[in-house]
Order: sequence, then C-alpha cells, then structure tokens
Amino acid sequence: MSISAVVEVKGWCPGVLRPMQSGDGLIARVRPWCGAFGLTQAEGLAAAAERFGNGHIDLTRRANLQIRGLGNAGLSGLQDVVERLGLVDRDPQAEAARNIMVAPLAGIDPAESFDVRPVARALERRLAADATLHDLPSKFGFLVDGGGTVSIAGERADISLRAAGSVMAVGLDTRNGTEWVGSTSPEVAAEAALAAASVFMGVSGGRGRLRDLGAKGFALLGDAVRRMLDPIVSELPIASRKSLGVLVLGAQRIGVGVAAPFGRLEADQLRRFVAMAGDAGATDIRLSPWRALYVEAGDVAAAHCLAEAARGIGLIVDPDDPILRIEACPGAPSCRSSSVDTRRDARRFAALGFEGTLHVSGCAKGCARSAPADLVLVGVQGGQKGGYDVIRNGTTRDAAERTIDAADIGALFDV
Ligand code: SF4
Repeated sequence: MSISAVVEVKGWCPGVLRPMQSGDGLIARVRPWCGAFGLTQAEGLAAAAERFGNGHIDLTRRANLQIRGLGNAGLSGLQDVVERLGLVDRDPQAEAARNIMVAPLAGIDPAESFDVRPVARALERRLAADATLHDLPSKFGFLVDGGGTVSIAGERADISLRAAGSVMAVGLDTRNGTEWVGSTSPEVAAEAALAAASVFMGVSGGRGRLRDLGAKGFALLGDAVRRMLDPIVSELPIASRKSLGVLVLGAQRIGVGVAAPFGRLEADQLRRFVAMAGDAGATDIRLSPWRALYVEAGDVAAAHCLAEAARGIGLIVDPDDPILRIEACPGAPSCRSSSVDTRRDARRFAALGFEGTLHVSGCAKGCARSAPADLVLVGVQGGQKGGYDVIRNGTTRDAAERTIDAADIGALFDV
C-alpha cells in the first residue's frame, strides 16, 4: 500500500513526498540519514530508479540523490520502496526541513577531531520533532563537519557546525562565506544550531536565507547566537581538498572517492558500484556536496581495485579530470526549458582543453551553478536554436557578450 503523500508539481527542493515536475517527468529527491546510504538502501534505490523512473539519477549539491522520470504510478511505487528502506520522513514538511550535509568521511577519518555523526543524528531528530522549524525557507540548510581530510566546511550552509579540538564551532552564513561566531560542546551543538535557526525565523520572518539578512538583521542574529555560545579559543584549521581516488587516511583506514560526471549516475552504474564497493569491504556509501561518492575500503589493494573498477564504469577517480571543472544542467531533452543538449556539448568542450571553470546551462535559470564561472554558456531561447550566449566571469544572469553556434565554441578556448 502506498504511503500517504502530498504531491506538488512545483517547488525548489523536491522530496519523495513532494516531488517536482521536470521535462522528463517527476523528480524525487531522497535524503540519506546522516549523509550515508547503507548498501542495501543504495541498491534498492538503483532498482527503484530503473523500475519506476527513467533510470537517471542525479547527485545533488546538497548531498542528496534524485530519481528522475517518474510518472504518478511510478511515484507511488518509489514511495513504497523508500518507506521499506527506512528513508522516508514523517511528513512532507519534516522531509523538506531535513537539509543537513555531513562530512563524507565522518567516523572513518582518523584526522577528524572526533566522530560528528552523533551530532548530525541529534540535529536530524530535533529538526523532525520541532514543527516550528518546518517553516524554515525551503533551501535553508545545515552542515556538520569533523575537520578531517575531506572537509565540507568550505561549502555554503546557513548554519555550520565544525569540530575543532573537543568542541564544535558554530558558523553563520554571510554574503562573504561562513562567519564562525562561537563554540559549544558536541552534546548541545544540535540544540545550539536549532536555536540559531529559531532566532533567524524571528529576525527574518522566515523569509530568505541567512546571507540575505541586511547588516542590522545579521547583527541581531549574531548577537543573539553569540550569547548562547562560548568564544572560539583556537584557530580553525583550513578546510581541506575535495580528494578523489584512493585516500590513505592513516591508522589503517582507507577511503575511496568517485565522482559522477555532471552529477549524473545511471541506475545500472549505481547498482554495479554498490556491488563493487561491497566486494571492497564497504558497508555504506556517503554522499558529498561536490557530487562524489565516498566509501571505506577494507585495505589498500581493495581500494585500488575499486577505483579501477569505478573508472571502468564511467565514474571519475582523477581529481584533475577536466569534466570536474564543468557544471552542466540536464538540458535537453530532460528539461523542456532548454534547446541544447548541455551535457553532450559539455563533454565535447571538456576535450577542448579550457583551463578555467565552465558552466554550460540550458537556460538562464542556471540550475547547475549559482556562483560565477570563468566562462558561462547559456542555451539560446528561440532564434538561434542550438546556439549559446557567451558570458565571461559571471553567472547565467549576466549580460552576454555575444551568441555563438555550439560548433564554434572551440574558438572561445583559443584552440
Ligand atoms: S538551467 Fe534551465 S535548462 Fe537547465 S535544468 Fe534548469 S531549467 Fe532546465
């Protein structure tokens, strides 16, 4: 029997209980608990994507997994599966509020100050239980980081918690990045983060994001939050790189990171990766905001085998792969707002040797990237179909310097 669901066809953050319409059907975003899917859960999601959707799976920038191409009957089937896998929330409001990113090597990496997963779990539980916070803006999010080898502390979240020595630093998002405003013990860090979110609700009326607060609003918020915290006594370590491939972590712990080109996995690719990860000794699969998956391998040999096998099924294990410098939204034919096949074109552009960051977008909405890129190509709407508007050092919403046919893009790269 299908679980009850509120199905809406539009919205910023689609969930399993509240999907969103796209050009290739409904999209349902599945949120892992504490940043990880067990192998059985990941295998079940791959099978469900194939059976109920069109087999396309997106890894999102909020470290979730998105199943595409669902019809109404398929949605109901997927909801049943997600419920059986223990991944469903109590209601659509609780689901929408559960925007929590967790460092992908939490509890594995000996370089972390401590295992922050209990903090993340407490945050999940308390967020679900407090209905007053379910009115937070739909993209309002939290992150929990252990300060280890693969850190997410440089990612944007409205409220950040980061392990530093024996305490957790608390950070608030500003237009210029995270401002670390104080610290607290791990035992009460989740409570402090949610108290900060409550203060934000009061200051903002539940609209916008932290970074949108004006100077007066941020000062009010910052002062209120600081009063709940202790000062930060030591300097926070610099957030580390987004490593891929075999990661020798120390104390005989070994990780493997693999990225999906443009964040897109096919169901069969995920199923095969899950099987290979299990063979390598992994027990779960962790998601990251840069759309790479991480697992722990049993030993170095198993890790190298897994990395090679992942490369063999089209995943990226080299952190210098040029595809990683390119963001491309699904484009045509998945999205009806686009006249260009963005990802097909982006693969071709990757081979042309552009050294900077490149954003290929089907339209000016710019779903794949909000930050500026060195070169932005936006599919033309009407008129020169198959062409791109060219923007340098900007976003999709900036003025284009010219329009160019996709076949002539190489001229932009000086080749
Ligand atoms: S940027 Fe435009 S074309 Fe690309 S996925 Fe978003 S709405 Fe569709």
